[in-house]
Amino acid sequence: MLYRAARWLLTRLLFVFLVSLAVVVFARQFMDGTSDSGDIEEPSSEIAGPSIGDHWHVAYKVYICGELQPEFALWQGGIHTHDDGIIHIHPFLPSEEGEGARLVKWFEYGGGKLTQSEMRMPGSREEYKNGDECPGGAEAVLRVFVDGEWLEDWSEYIPQHGDRVQIEFGEVAAD
Ligand SMILES: [Zn+2]
Ligand SMILES: [Zn+2]
Repeated sequence: MLYRAARWLLTRLLFVFLVSLAVVVFARQFMDGTSDSGDIEEPSSEIAGPSIGDHWHVAYKVYICGELQPEFALWQGGIHTHDDGIIHIHPFLPSEEGEGARLVKWFEYGGGKLTQSEMRMPGSREEYKNGDECPGGAEAVLRVFVDGEWLEDWSEYIPQHGDRVQIEFGEVAAD
């Protein structure tokens, strides 16, 4: 009787020991796995930029004075578009990673320009500046929305996979 009780206790202890060992081994492997992917270039900002090997898609639309603009034509590079209304973000070069994949850089790669107050669309020579007038005579302002939310400052904005970007140059409704 005593022997059986002792054996039961031993079996239990062994079981507890093995389970704890498994937990420790698993936890170590898990932690190694996450620290491996960190490297040196772990982004310090809240919004992480893409790395080589990522391939993100971001839908975009551009409106000028209320009119939807044609999709930008194809250009080369890792941060580009294909005449499909999508910002394709798949960095080929380290310079296209992280900050190099900002919305303003995407414009630049396509030969355009996007600042806080001015826009030139890729493939176009026309510049739109804050204060220019729309055909109706209203003063137009450049604004950028992400998923329907107005961005106060888009200079550092890195589109994230699945974002929906809308760039508007037009009259701001008074409501
Ligand atoms: Zn793509
Ligand atoms: Zn592509």
